[in-house]
Amino acid sequence: MRVPSVFDLLDTGIGPSSSHTLGPLRAARDFRGLLAARGIDRAHVRVTLLGSLARTGKGHLTDLAVTAGLADYDPTDPSGPSLQAVYQTVRSAGGIRGGAVLHFDPDRDILFDTTTLDLAHPNTLRFVARDDAGSPLLEEEYRSVGGGSVEGGTFGDRAARERAASDFSMARVLDACLERGMDLAQFVRENEEREHGLAPADVERRLEALWGTMTRSIEAGLATEGVLPGRLCLERRAPEMLEHLQGRAREWQVVSRETTLAAVYALAVAEENAAGGRVVTAPTCGSAGVVPATLKMLQERFLLSDERIHDALLAAGLVGLVVAVNASISGAEVGCQGEVGTASAMAAAAACQLLGGSALQAESAAETALEHHLGLTCDPVCGLVQIPCIERNAVGAVAALNAASLALLGSGKHQISFDRAVATLKEVGRDMDRKYKETALGGLAGPGCDSRAP
Ligand code: SF4
Repeated sequence: MRVPSVFDLLDTGIGPSSSHTLGPLRAARDFRGLLAARGIDRAHVRVTLLGSLARTGKGHLTDLAVTAGLADYDPTDPSGPSLQAVYQTVRSAGGIRGGAVLHFDPDRDILFDTTTLDLAHPNTLRFVARDDAGSPLLEEEYRSVGGGSVEGGTFGDRAARERAASDFSMARVLDACLERGMDLAQFVRENEEREHGLAPADVERRLEALWGTMTRSIEAGLATEGVLPGRLCLERRAPEMLEHLQGRAREWQVVSRETTLAAVYALAVAEENAAGGRVVTAPTCGSAGVVPATLKMLQERFLLSDERIHDALLAAGLVGLVVAVNASISGAEVGCQGEVGTASAMAAAAACQLLGGSALQAESAAETALEHHLGLTCDPVCGLVQIPCIERNAVGAVAALNAASLALLGSGKHQISFDRAVATLKEVGRDMDRKYKETALGGLAGPGCDSRAP
């Protein structure tokens, strides 16, 4: 069985969307690299966004992302400027200078094609570079397949090939764990070293960096007030909610303070993501609040070390990979069940791992969390990753805590396997009407909502 690296899934990204922001940014950067590799140092570039990218790209900042990618913007650099700043610079200059000279006016050269429906993937974007006479120099098509992963260009179709050739399943992981007395984290650590050639210190270093980004995203979300970008003019609520929770907790407490705290942490990250901040794709940017919120609350409550958190992240990553490989973590492909549903399953397994649960209990928790998100549609109002996304992260974290609690009370033995829930997610996603898959055409974002982006 070939198990991909958890670091392919858990990665530093910029909000608001891994498939609509981070993936297109990476695609644009790759296209720029291809131009350089062919010695093309002067070109007129045009980008066409298709499918879900055309429908909700404005709200998800896809136009800013492709502009920044063409300008070689590094989304992992915490000291880098904002996407908005890079976009404005390129717009004012009418292009990009530095290395190659790319004539590119985002207002004129980014096209939103909502009419082409026959696409290999709902998140497709096409780049074309022409010379001064208008003759094509290079054309390339990319697919942003979820969680920031991209196919096309130098990325090839690795993700598709891995999916097609995969015999990776949670059942096979559990067999290996039971046979060798391992928990999920031990299984993943061994896999990272054996299959991906990472030294133990490298694994630790990467986990430390991911947890650092996660905790900083919580802190930033709790410390920042104001209005989120976009037509909804939505106020950030996490700082005020934390203040109320700390000040008046007993007056209105209907669930435990810790449960509410996890929900507030999830809101904080989701608001930070909506503002274009740095988050960890877990499994996506839109669902980035669920895992850190769950783990942060448990760490504080039980005074757990960062090393224990690292193990929990490995378990979370494994669960996310099972979904990514065997179904999808793209809202445009399968709806929000693949994003927040997967995030909740990841957090549930991670919570079990963190609290000493067995591999069976972690799998059971992940299944419970995912099962009760099946059928969840993706209907971002005004095409923004705000409503229902922000609160949905909070609800996903609470569902994860409930699922973990139930699993830890039992032996791990249960009827429906996680693999069965994942197969069902895929089937439901395939049958789901297109309007509920990140198009802002249906559900909460449907008619009457002024959501016809762009
Ligand atoms: S509804 Fe869910 S899948 Fe859709 S954009 Fe929001 S978080 Fe992502």
